[in-house]
Amino acid sequence: MPIGPTAQPRTSPTPAWTTADTEPVSCCVCGVAGETLYALSPFGVVRCPVCELVFVSPRLTSSALQRFYDEPAYFEGGVYGAQSTWSPAMVLQRSWTAGRLAVIARIRRPPGRLLEIGSGYGLFLDAARSSGYEVRGVELSRTGSAHAVANLGLDVFCGQLADAPTDPADVICFWDTLEHVPDPLAFLREVRARLAPGGVLALSVPYFSSIPARVLRTRWWTLKPEQHIWHFTPATLRLVAARAGLVITRLVTSPVRKSNVGRTDSLVALGRAIPDPED
Ligand SMILES: [Zn+2]
Repeated sequence: MPIGPTAQPRTSPTPAWTTADTEPVSCCVCGVAGETLYALSPFGVVRCPVCELVFVSPRLTSSALQRFYDEPAYFEGGVYGAQSTWSPAMVLQRSWTAGRLAVIARIRRPPGRLLEIGSGYGLFLDAARSSGYEVRGVELSRTGSAHAVANLGLDVFCGQLADAPTDPADVICFWDTLEHVPDPLAFLREVRARLAPGGVLALSVPYFSSIPARVLRTRWWTLKPEQHIWHFTPATLRLVAARAGLVITRLVTSPVRKSNVGRTDSLVALGRAIPDPED
């Protein structure tokens, strides 16, 4: 999630992870083991020798990961609503929200059904609702989803996307979420299945070919191997999307664009479903 040099450091109450909390995984596209780039015991950052997708293996088991996301501290000290309105992180969050709604509206203006996956405290959904979309969210964190439902009156399903309602949406967005999901290919197929005809997807994700990632290597502030378990480049993002029946139609990497302002290691992508031959 978008924790960068402008955000507050997170002080985690989570105990140090051990090998018993981890498991090895294969490339979600090719099913083969990765080759080690960085050993960060008990984790490893590896690259698929076939498609070059970078991922974390070993990584936290699903039960260890759920314990991590259930910590209220996961959202505190970041950019998810626990801070004062004019903190630098919240000013950035509002800029991203406005910029992202603007790029979406250029290709799918409201009204329409908008689904956000990984909706956190519900700040983006709240803004999207104000701009005229009919909104729903999916959020794994019980803390985040409970806040969005109780304080903002939003419709948020708490759990994994695969277990969430399958009602179609005209816009599906997921900001800084794809790097967290257990299987991005399965996740994007779930997204594809929920896109209404002519619908669009919009996402942001850190990227491994960014200058900070390449220069700082294991000191890259976004590496975070417990939670950022897949690392994309524009090429591998397009590959995984295509395998899921989606095409990326626009990529924003510039840190001066409003949808991505101040972010030197993240990209914003827009896309659509590739029609089935029988559609
Ligand atoms: Zn692969």
